[in-house]
Amino acid sequence: TPKAVILDSAEVRRALTRIAHEIIERNKGAQGLALIGVHTRGLPLAARLAAKLSELEGVEVPTGSLDITLYRDDLSEVARQPIIRETEVPFDLAERRVILVDDVLFTGRTVRAALDALIDIGRPTGIQLAVLVDRGHRELPIRADYVGKNLPTAHDEVVKVKLSETDGADSVELWDR
Ligand code: 5GP
Ligand code: MG
Repeated sequence: TPKAVILDSAEVRRALTRIAHEIIERNKGAQGLALIGVHTRGLPLAARLAAKLSELEGVEVPTGSLDITLYRDDLSEVARQPIIRETEVPFDLAERRVILVDDVLFTGRTVRAALDALIDIGRPTGIQLAVLVDRGHRELPIRADYVGKNLPTAHDEVVKVKLSETDGADSVELWDR
């Protein structure tokens, strides 16, 4: 059982609505944006934000995805290396401000790999980061521009993010590993 329920479904919905408003405020609208979801749960989050932006601003924001997996180097338990498995960006990133979307921000290694991939794919004019949960423990100088919930965690805790698209219902829970 979880140690704590951090966000229930209404709170997840409100956090995403707030982030959509913050995106619009910061970018003076939704024109010229693109949303890129990071593998599993960043994809439904990016799709929901795109729907909100469309509803609020009447602008269709193109969405894409990056599949980045961290693998643990057997020789050094600490150094987790990201590998890019697949990139799906079926539009031109040039002249667009890209918002990278992920469920949880932890060490920052996944985002660092995503930044490399995006810059390789096509020279966006800028990149911003939106995450549902920032659980701390950064190992790189990376921060999120939009955060659903700042959740200080212990290293041996895990954040379970459940989304209706992948898990049947929305919630964020804190568990012991
Ligand atoms: P980082 O690269 O910042 O160490 O880890 C972020 C990536 O790993 C994200 O794609 C995220 O999905 C996953 N991740 C890291 N820690 C957690 C966690 O506690 N819970 C969940 N759900 N995902 C995590
Ligand atoms: Mg992930």
